[in-house]
Amino acid sequence: MTSFENFSVRKDIADGARMECGICWIVYDPAEGDEATQIAAGTPFAGLPENWRCRKLRCAQIEVHGD
Ligand SMILES: [Zn+2]
Repeated sequence: MTSFENFSVRKDIADGARMECGICWIVYDPAEGDEATQIAAGTPFAGLPENWRCRKLRCAQIEVHGD
């Protein structure tokens, strides 16, 4: 299942879920973190800073992949 989410509901996202930006298709994989925004590997999406945005265009809109 894929659903369109935003940061206000990110606590509902599973720790291992990969996130894909709904605008520019950048993927955030918790297993890899995000070097561009200094996110350590193993950081779940729910653990990202409040002001985190996708690293390409800094979009606030993302898609959830997985359960
Ligand atoms: Zn984006």
